[in-house]
Amino acid sequence: MKFIHRCIERLAGTVVRVRTTEPLVALTFDDGPDPQGTPALLERLAAHGAMATFFMIGKRAAEQPELVKTVHRAGHAIGNHTWDHPSLPLLSRAERRCQLRRTAEILPRQGRMLFRPPFGHFDAPSQLDVFLCAGQAVAWSAIIPDWEGRPAAELAELARQALHPGAILAMHDGLMDFTDACWRDRRPTIEAVDLLLSETAGRYKFVTLPELMRRGKPVRACWRMAPDLEMLHRLKRADGTARRYGREPS
Ligand SMILES: [Zn+2]
Repeated sequence: MKFIHRCIERLAGTVVRVRTTEPLVALTFDDGPDPQGTPALLERLAAHGAMATFFMIGKRAAEQPELVKTVHRAGHAIGNHTWDHPSLPLLSRAERRCQLRRTAEILPRQGRMLFRPPFGHFDAPSQLDVFLCAGQAVAWSAIIPDWEGRPAAELAELARQALHPGAILAMHDGLMDFTDACWRDRRPTIEAVDLLLSETAGRYKFVTLPELMRRGKPVRACWRMAPDLEMLHRLKRADGTARRYGREPS
């Protein structure tokens, strides 16, 4: 049984970091493309010669095809972050596959589809669906909490502490779900990235996830995170829609 479990993990496990001795790091940004956040971030990354990976929301990508092309042409990697950011374990299998496939159809093709589960929520059926849709699930070695109004210097410090060869850092160039609309402002994140890239210049190289995974050995884990229903019910959505998940919080 242990052997079977290890085989499944090796084939379909979620990438959480990459084993390498080279000073390579992957910055990843979720929930875009965002008409303000994404171009401003692209400009900062270009100024530092840094590459990154953008896990895009299908619905937002469909609304902004030119911005998707701009990210792609700049050489950054693009991954799938579902069509409209649901918590995958709470969907039916058919809904889950639709979320994955519909998004994959409109994003530029770049080898095996990289996929990041919204909120990190993931269970065994979700993992299987990503695998069957030819996707590679990627979580993170550190997620920087840039959705609750923290200042740039604090975010930069947290990111700096999380740096190591093969690290995968998660941040947001957009924000699809939030509890306070003022936290949608992406300027603290962009300033934090700018600070991080300035302070680590010459010590770390920031590359796309596919490049990091090519140059090292991806570490796969059995990533499981149960949906937090109370948190989900508190959230407001950037597109104004309301998503209801089964029971209301008690
Ligand atoms: Zn997200």
